[in-house]
Amino acid sequence: MCWQKRGTGRSYSSSSGVGTAIGQLTGKILDYDLRVTHCAICHSAEKAKRDAKPHNCQKNWSKSAKPMESSTGASLMETIEEVSGVPVDVLIMNDDSATLSRVKEALDHEVKKLSDINHSTKSLGKAFYNLKSKHKTLSTDIIEYYKMCFSYAIQQNKNNETKLKETLTATVPHSFGIHDKCGNWCNKSIENNFHKYLLHGKPLTDDALRQDVQIKFDTVANNAERLAPAGSTKDVESTNNIYASKAPKRFCFSKCENLKTRYNAHNAVDDVNSLHKLMTLSKVEKQDVLEFSFSVESIVENMKYDKIVKVDAESFGDLVKGKYMSAQMAVRCAQSGLKKCHLDLAFHRKGFQGLLDLLSQRRQDGSPRVTKTAAVIKKITGYYDNK
Ligand SMILES: [Zn+2]
Ligand SMILES: [Zn+2]
Repeated sequence: MCWQKRGTGRSYSSSSGVGTAIGQLTGKILDYDLRVTHCAICHSAEKAKRDAKPHNCQKNWSKSAKPMESSTGASLMETIEEVSGVPVDVLIMNDDSATLSRVKEALDHEVKKLSDINHSTKSLGKAFYNLKSKHKTLSTDIIEYYKMCFSYAIQQNKNNETKLKETLTATVPHSFGIHDKCGNWCNKSIENNFHKYLLHGKPLTDDALRQDVQIKFDTVANNAERLAPAGSTKDVESTNNIYASKAPKRFCFSKCENLKTRYNAHNAVDDVNSLHKLMTLSKVEKQDVLEFSFSVESIVENMKYDKIVKVDAESFGDLVKGKYMSAQMAVRCAQSGLKKCHLDLAFHRKGFQGLLDLLSQRRQDGSPRVTKTAAVIKKITGYYDNK
């Protein structure tokens, strides 16, 4: 669900929202549906106390913004079943129980709900942040560590409910130095290496904290059935970003017919027409657009840059082949102007620290040049250690 105007946290005050359903296997949009609460023509007629002139009124919602989500969810699933004749058996979504129950009601049959892993990771993190005031030893690093354990557990046990449950249950004892339930993912055999992500590489000791953290992990472990397929709504998320960029939240388009028509644009000519309409309506200045435009020269420069990146990324071929580095990481190194010889030099000078210094150099915006994740860099050192 994408609201054209969205409050922070629990406050929803948007006058329009669009819900999208995407096929998990095809990645294609199956359907979308709009809820619009405001119509400028009706509104001005009301104000002037006269009847509105005949118009294509898009207003179809009179309740608050939050239930738009369950309402669009239900009608989308209904339409999809109706049009395709195929029952909707599995739904990957956030943990919004209102939407799920409305969908079941509308379809009149059971629907299996899978958790979206990104939402699940986020809400686990949130639960931990809520524990922070109670447990002084619960640092942000520890919370991030647990979030990482959680998402690794899901990635490494995809579609294996039993193993996922085991791993999630063993995570907390593991972090406290108890390894009898750990699987082969645990590095306890490598001396001094088994808590490399925790402070000073030492296991945690706060027993009161352990109890509360265990409760959280038991809850997610009991949810293993919904988590194991590692369902993701990231396609919906990125579609929402496209909507948001086409109908920025600071402009209000829902008050006219434009919102609906714009989403109908599926070919280039329509795109241009609606863009023109959008620009006229939103009174976007040429100056604003120029910032996002580019010249032929810049395209040529970009192509040259892409070519260099491609060649440089290939220099990391051995590392990628040996699985010491992902192909994506090789591209990121190359994009930052690095070739393998630079890594060689950094490692020969200062080992792990050398690579860390090089790859985590701060860029102007404060983000690392390539990565500052110790695990990723550690993996790269494996290449040099095994040479
Ligand atoms: Zn109207
Ligand atoms: Zn362990």
